[in-house]
Amino acid sequence: MLLKILIKMYRTHTCGELNANHIGQAVTLSGWVQKIRDLGAVIFIDLRDRYGITQLSFNENNRDLLEQARKLGREFVIQAKGKVVERASKNPKLPTGDIEILVEELEVLNESEIPPFTIEDETDGGEELRMKYRYLDIRRNPVKNNLIFRSKVTQLVRNYLADQGFIDVETPYLIKSTPEGARDFVVPSRMHPGHFYALPQSPQTFKQLLMVGGMDKYMQIVKCFRDEDLRADRQPEFTQIDCEMAFIEQEDILQTFEGLTKHLLKEIHGIEIADFPRISYEEAMRRYGNDKPDIRFGMEFGDLTEAAKGKGFNVFDQQEAILGIAVPGAATYTRKQIDKITDWVKRPQIGAKGMVYVKYNEDGSFKSSVDKFYSQDDLSEWAKITGANPGDLILVLSGNLDATRAQLSALRMEMAERLGLRKPDEFAPLWVVDFPLLEWDEDTGRYHAMHHPFTAPKPEDAHLLDTEPGKVRANAYDLVLNGNEIGGGSIRIHDKAMQAKMLNLLGFSDEEAQKQFGFLMNAFQYGAPPHGGIAFGLDRLVAILGGQETIRDFIAFPKNNAGRDVMIDAPDTISQEQLDELHLRIVE
Ligand code: ASP
Repeated sequence: MLLKILIKMYRTHTCGELNANHIGQAVTLSGWVQKIRDLGAVIFIDLRDRYGITQLSFNENNRDLLEQARKLGREFVIQAKGKVVERASKNPKLPTGDIEILVEELEVLNESEIPPFTIEDETDGGEELRMKYRYLDIRRNPVKNNLIFRSKVTQLVRNYLADQGFIDVETPYLIKSTPEGARDFVVPSRMHPGHFYALPQSPQTFKQLLMVGGMDKYMQIVKCFRDEDLRADRQPEFTQIDCEMAFIEQEDILQTFEGLTKHLLKEIHGIEIADFPRISYEEAMRRYGNDKPDIRFGMEFGDLTEAAKGKGFNVFDQQEAILGIAVPGAATYTRKQIDKITDWVKRPQIGAKGMVYVKYNEDGSFKSSVDKFYSQDDLSEWAKITGANPGDLILVLSGNLDATRAQLSALRMEMAERLGLRKPDEFAPLWVVDFPLLEWDEDTGRYHAMHHPFTAPKPEDAHLLDTEPGKVRANAYDLVLNGNEIGGGSIRIHDKAMQAKMLNLLGFSDEEAQKQFGFLMNAFQYGAPPHGGIAFGLDRLVAILGGQETIRDFIAFPKNNAGRDVMIDAPDTISQEQLDELHLRIVE
């Protein structure tokens, strides 16, 4: 017996592909009703799918169909069969703008409620509403295109790394809590009362164990989870391009991942960048007050501490550091404009006490807020130190070194923003290397690992570990792009004794170290090869490559700024039954 299989052919073409070459063809399209224009005797409908928009037309030659079309609403899912015909009034803005479909058959595949916001490039929906109905937001070009762009980036990354011999290995999501870095998200175990899994902040220890396992080049595009207090544009779950290599030195990692970044910039933007600059952490802090400097523009720090002290200006005389930047072409700023900048640096988020300014006028003279104390020669010296040219405005902050650097760095970025120097289509990557191994934490009164506890000290600094641990540098590196840290990593410790020593330095007793990280140190006893790695923050990388700042816009289903998923309403309570099963009790 012959089985007749009925195949419903939903579409012969997409809504983005028909043009004048198809005129006369019979086609079937499926998609969403974007817009209906009812002119009485004719109805035009814009039909949308992922690929584009095609105009459907209905006229009085087929009154039944015209009536059917009249009943459609926005976002109805329909199937239309008809002929491709030339359009009377063409739309050169659309790839399909030369044609329309003269519809002969129409089927409603599903109806739709009136959407809560318009599904257009420029929508009337606020952010929260669009998050609640994210599936509708994804129908809009800006979000849809971002997701397609993200997919393109991940594809390029995978192909590039696969070509280099990297193996994609999945590591577990249910692991154990470790007291490093941020706070863990924990998952109670039903089968083991009082015991908890933790979601990984990164696959760090697993990728190191893969090196012990001989996997040699590992990569994974992987979700990581950090229960941090939410800052703007941070997500509690985010994605890393996580990589590790064995039998390599820092130089191999820098070369490999500079290669990857160059490949992305070339494939996506057609930009070829010569070798990425490299600067030490110490130099980055000195020149930009920041370990992720935006080098698309200058305004490097000038250290005025020596030049500005001892001239009778009390405020400066008492300070540890006096630092300035030359803002290009801003000498013509009015008093009011400068007052606004002063107010800006005094905001609690920045925290400066005040600001001194010097106008370097086009005629070569200087006018400053501290003319009483400093001669034209003094100010000329400041101009030299800050690299100011006639026409520039020198802005000076002072205080303790760390705070002043942070404040002036924020001001530098703000001025660049105001002057339009942070161009989204310009890309300026650099490596920051030689990070300190440890940083002193005033609150806990002990050292913290600047990168993480598995980072190796530079061999030439290792002798300082016992005497001056704060001075030890690490083979740790960050890849910075346009003022954002897009990747970071290090050469790791692969020796049990060194790992134990490091954990001691970080305040772990031998027992605690063994309990928390025994699995890793034990593995190091079985032939751990020298190794190191890096992880890129994929969400931010994609956003920057896409010329935007907000990572939420590149995540299909992001959390809001309070860490909530307002679409599925998470986090949420669970039933008493679930609590009991998990041996949990809520204490109010
Ligand atoms: N695991 C590190 C991180 O998440 C990256 C690395 O050292 O490879 O920052």
